[in-house]
Order: sequence, then structure tokens, then C-alpha cells
Amino acid sequence: MRIAADRERCVGSAACEALAPELFCVGDDGVVRVLRPEPGRAEEDVVRDTVDQCPTGALSLTD
Ligand code: SF4
Repeated sequence: MRIAADRERCVGSAACEALAPELFCVGDDGVVRVLRPEPGRAEEDVVRDTVDQCPTGALSLTD
């Protein structure tokens, strides 16, 4: 699993950071940064939940 973030679609709500702060960070520029694009198996559920809850669809997953 690999996380991709579309920085053009991100509005900086920081929902992702709140749900998975070890994986996502919203910086001073107000845009998400993926801290670890390839999470471990144990993190897959929280990653899928976080992707689903992004209000703009800025986050996506690839295999
Ligand atoms: S939840 Fe989505 S819109 Fe909000 S900061 Fe994260 S990637 Fe950006």
C-alpha cells in the first residue's frame, strides 16, 4: 500500500493529521505532507479510514 496526496486538492483541514499524526502532517504552508508514504500492514485500517474522511478526496491509495 502506498499513500498519495494531491496537494492541489488539499485544503489543510488537518483531519488526516488528527487521525494519523504519525503518517500525515499539515505544515506552515497549510498543505498536507505524507510523512511515511508506505505504511505497515498494521496501519492499513487507519489509513483507509483517513483516506475516506478527507473532505476533498486529496488522499488516495495504490497497491
Ligand atoms: S484531510 Fe485531506 S484536505 Fe485535510 S489536510 Fe488532510 S489531505 Fe488535506
